[in-house]
Amino acid sequence: MSNSDLADEDLLGYLDESLPVERMSEVETALRKSDVLRQRAAMLLRRRDDGYHSVGEIWRRHRLSCPSRRLLGSYLLDALDGAEKDYVDFHLRTVGCRFCAANLHDLEESMNQTPQVEQRRRKFFQSSAGHLRSLRSE
Ligand SMILES: [Zn+2]
Repeated sequence: MSNSDLADEDLLGYLDESLPVERMSEVETALRKSDVLRQRAAMLLRRRDDGYHSVGEIWRRHRLSCPSRRLLGSYLLDALDGAEKDYVDFHLRTVGCRFCAANLHDLEESMNQTPQVEQRRRKFFQSSAGHLRSLRSE
């Protein structure tokens, strides 16, 4: 990875420990290898502490509109209705919220370790199938 691949947001995200685990270690590796990058990170931190650099601030404010962890969990299980799913989609893909991406990654990991996940998924599908059937019969 070259230094130019790293955006200020990545560095700040790293400093805030708010990046997904893999990204954290990528940034850490890059920082270890490069004096220039470490200087840039130190500068960003100083600027932000002075209130000059506001990426972190914007990001923190933005976090207020984050979907709940429960909503993210349902999103992973594909158990949301259209509007909720659109909202989470938008938040993750268009806004590209790192906090939620990390959260989602976490949830994914823990779900993969849960044997009941298939069962739960099936239950969700069954209830939405039932819901669809009841709509159709109206
Ligand atoms: Zn978010």
